[in-house]
Amino acid sequence: MCAIAAGARGRRVRVLDHANKVGKKILMSGGGRCNFTNTGTTPAQYLSANPHFCKSALARYTPADFIAMVEAHRIAWHEKELGQLFCDDSAKQIVRMLLDETAAVGAGVHTHCSIETVERLDGGGFRLRTGLGTIECASLVVATGGLSIPSMGASGFGYALARQFGHAVLATRAGLVPLTLSGKHQARLQDLSGVAFEVEARCNGAGFRNRMLVTHRGISGPAILQVSSYWQPGDDLRLDLLPDRDIPSWLAVQQRERGATELRTVLSEALPRRFAQRLCEVWLPSRPLRQYTPAQLQQVADTLQSWPLVASGTEGYRTAEVTLGGVDTHELSSSTMMSRRVPGLYFIGEVVDVTGWLGGYNFQWAWASGHAAGEVA
Ligand SMILES: Cc1cc2nc3c(=O)[nH]c(=O)nc-3n(C[C@H](O)[C@H](O)[C@H](O)COP(=O)(O)OP(=O)(O)OC[C@H]3O[C@@H](n4cnc5c(N)ncnc54)[C@H](O)[C@@H]3O)c2cc1C
Repeated sequence: MCAIAAGARGRRVRVLDHANKVGKKILMSGGGRCNFTNTGTTPAQYLSANPHFCKSALARYTPADFIAMVEAHRIAWHEKELGQLFCDDSAKQIVRMLLDETAAVGAGVHTHCSIETVERLDGGGFRLRTGLGTIECASLVVATGGLSIPSMGASGFGYALARQFGHAVLATRAGLVPLTLSGKHQARLQDLSGVAFEVEARCNGAGFRNRMLVTHRGISGPAILQVSSYWQPGDDLRLDLLPDRDIPSWLAVQQRERGATELRTVLSEALPRRFAQRLCEVWLPSRPLRQYTPAQLQQVADTLQSWPLVASGTEGYRTAEVTLGGVDTHELSSSTMMSRRVPGLYFIGEVVDVTGWLGGYNFQWAWASGHAAGEVA
C-alpha cells in the first residue's frame, strides 16, 4: 500500500521481502478469504500505549477507500458479521490487486531478498546490503510486521532496526491468541473439547460478546481471541455464560414455575448440555430449584454472569494473529509515520505499537499507515 501511494507520486520504489512470495498473511487470513477491512473501524478498536496515534492515518485512509480499490478490481465481497468484510472467492485476489496496483505505478517487488545491514548515509538517505546487492535510498519504510507465525516469514528484524536507530521498542507479546489452561483448570474442561457457545468475555475493562470454544489445551473462539489481547498472566478473566439473559430474573421464574426441576436440567436447556453438567459438578452444586434460598439463587446467578476462568498462558506466536507492542509511537509522526529521530526512516503496519481487534482492523491499520507514509516518503 505504501509502495502504491509513493509510486503514484512518481517516486521510484522497491519492495524488498525475504519470503518466497509476498502477502503470505493476507493469503492465510480469514480462512483463505481475507477479512480485509471492517466498516466500523474507529480508533477505539486499537490497543496502543498511545491511543491517539492511529487517529490521523485511519481518518485519511478509510475502509471506504479500500473498498473502492477492491471494487475497481471487480473483487466480489460480503459482510460476514459485525462489519467484517471478506472476499467472496479468495484472499489471492487481494494480493493480486495489490501487486497489479504496485506494477501500475512502476514499483518493483523483490522476493527472496535478505537484508543484511542498514546504515544511514552522512548526507541523508540509507545504504542497504541485501541479497540483491547494495541499494541506496532516500526513504526507508520498515513494514516487517510482527512476530506471529514465524513459519510465514515473521522476524524481529523491524524491532532490531528500530533499536539500531535509537527508537524504543515496547515489550511485545502475542495477541488474538487462544488461551491455555493448566492443572485442575485444564482437567476440568479438557474432555469438553469442541464445545462452543456464545459468551461475553471480560478482562481489564474490555468485554467481547461472541463465541467461545473449548480446546484440548484451553479455550479459543472469537470472544477469547479478542479478550486475549487485554489479558496477561494473573489477570482476572470472567465470562458471562448467558449474555442474552437477565439471569437473576430468569432463575427466579424457573424456580417459581418448575421448583422440582434440578438446576442441572434448567442449565442444560440454556447451555451445551455437557458444559452445564460440568458447571454443576464443579462450580454449582445441583438440586431441585425450590431448595435454593434467594441468596443462594443470587450466588448461582453471579457465577453464571461472572464465571472465573483461570488461564495459565497463551498459545504464543505460533498461532497468534498479531503482536502487541512494538515500535514506540511517541517517536513517530502520527500523520506520516516518519521517525522523529531519523529523517527518511518510516515504520508502518504491525511492527508499530498499534494493534487492532479481530475483524479486519489489523489490515485496515496496515493499509492506512502504509498509505500515510506513501504520501510523503
Ligand atoms: C493466521 C492469521 C490470520 C489473520 N487474519 C486477519 C484478518 O482476516 N484480518 C485482519 O485485519 N488481520 C488479520 N491478521 C493480521 C494481519 O495479517 C497483520 O496484522 C498484517 O498482515 C500486518 O501487515 P504488515 O504489512 O505490517 O506485516 P506482514 O503482513 O506480516 O508483512 C511483513 C512482511 O515483511 C517480511 N519480512 C519480515 N522480516 C523480514 C526481514 N528480516 N527481511 C525481509 N523481509 C522481512 C515478511 O516476509 C512479510 O512479507 C491475521 C494474521 C494471521 C497470522
